Amino acid sequence: MKTIGHFIGGKHVEGTSGRASDVYNPATGEVQAQVALASKSELDAAIENAKAAQPAWAATNPQRRARVMMRFVDLLHRDMDKLAEALSKEHGKTFPDAKGDVIRGLEVAEFCIGAPHLLKGEFTEGAGPGIDIHSVRQPLGVVAGITPFNFPAMIPMWKFCPAIACGNAFILKPSERDPSVPIMLAELMIEAGLPEGILNVVNGDKEAVDGILDHPDIEAVGFVGSTPIAEYVYTRGCAAGKRVQCFGGAKNHMIIMPDADMDQAVDALIGAGYGAAGERCMAVSVAVPVGEETADRLVEKLIPRVENLKIAPYTAGDDVDFGPLVTKEAHARVKGYVDAGVKEGAELVVDGRNFSMQGYEDGFFMGACLFDKVTRDMSIYKEEIFGPVLSVVRAKDYEDGLDLAMSHEYGNGVAIFTRDGDAARDFSARINIGMVGVNVPIPVPLAYYTFGGWKRSGFGDLNQHGPDAFRFYTRTKTITSRWPSGIKEGAEFVIPTMS
Ligand code: NAD
Repeated sequence: MKTIGHFIGGKHVEGTSGRASDVYNPATGEVQAQVALASKSELDAAIENAKAAQPAWAATNPQRRARVMMRFVDLLHRDMDKLAEALSKEHGKTFPDAKGDVIRGLEVAEFCIGAPHLLKGEFTEGAGPGIDIHSVRQPLGVVAGITPFNFPAMIPMWKFCPAIACGNAFILKPSERDPSVPIMLAELMIEAGLPEGILNVVNGDKEAVDGILDHPDIEAVGFVGSTPIAEYVYTRGCAAGKRVQCFGGAKNHMIIMPDADMDQAVDALIGAGYGAAGERCMAVSVAVPVGEETADRLVEKLIPRVENLKIAPYTAGDDVDFGPLVTKEAHARVKGYVDAGVKEGAELVVDGRNFSMQGYEDGFFMGACLFDKVTRDMSIYKEEIFGPVLSVVRAKDYEDGLDLAMSHEYGNGVAIFTRDGDAARDFSARINIGMVGVNVPIPVPLAYYTFGGWKRSGFGDLNQHGPDAFRFYTRTKTITSRWPSGIKEGAEFVIPTMS
């Protein structure tokens, strides 16, 4: 049985805690590896390594740090297929989607090549007699990232690329469900020229997370995962005096106005609702047609499309629509939600619960499900399902649809499909959700903008990637200097002002 340890100080290190977790092949249901779960002492050793390496890295000029990112991007291209294969094998997503996972991370690495520019401070000459003021952005020291299973390449890169480009050392605690790709990424960073100890991967569970949150030498923590854990990490990390940003779960709505191009809206819902088996924080899980006539047209077009989705292992080819869920527990959870929806009175117009993949009967495959006439009080509406389940909630009118999305506790992404610029503009201005799509179903901002949800989808002030990442991983120092040749003022007891 393959064992996966840690990557500390630029080297593979075996786990010594005696604790490990199974890593599945979701397509076959077989355990394909065991991943070590770090003890506190193993974590402490990684942090010691990082702490020792960080000052020299911070003193390396930003252009040299950027060159490591440049080489890293080249290596990601070189190893794209290898990374995507390892990713699909542990996560279950299709091969093209696994490449997308790597590419969305790579794009943030590309953005970080701009570190010399992004880290520039400000300067005011002559702020007073003989006085100049300038500000600099300095790295924090050792920082950590805790990441979820659903994007095992992209989200680790969203975390460690900007942190490292800023001059920090990084401890990555990836998901224990698909741990291979994060270690492969760390190996590539070393090959790209990163000094040992600057990027460390410590595999683990709650024990490692708590160790990170309580450790006095970790200055900042970036987390992505489910909302209950995001809130826990935020609260405990802040109480320990750290800078913390946590991104949580979602329930993304797509409003379909009566004037929308219905074929385009259906295409969008099929891709955004069922891609990656719905295991995306930006998946659309709620379709909100406005008016009964729009709803009838939408559901009529959706049913055959949902029934004909191609579900298969990633090895079946690039035309597969989605693969299995990540674990048996995830499968049972999603099925439980569908059962609950039926009990609560929603109309299950496509029932994928009994789907079985021929030749892969032990895999964690779940057929696509479509609910109509879902209402606000149902658990399938209120809670994040994270599976291939789309709920149609019929809205009376535009205001009703807007209110629905605004009243939900999650606020990650939202979309409106319409041909009416007025409606789209009003919607974008009033909606209380962090990422908005107009005729775009998954409005994941590109690397040079920032990514983050509102309400219970995000905890903390700054977003991921884009300029916010460079703010999160640095602190600003402002230096006021005076070179008073010939100026003699004597002692000053009043606070200096510009009056
Ligand atoms: P998860 O919350 O189970 O795990 C996330 C991380 O927290 C993992 O590294 C895990 O090991 C750790 N963890 C799990 N339980 C813990 C505990 N009790 N104490 C401390 N740490 C713990 O999330 P997941 O199932 O891996 O990922 C799916 C979730 O992530 C979904 O809710 C999805 O919406 C969310 N997500 C959000 C974003 C975003 O940017 N908002 C992006 C991707 C995924």
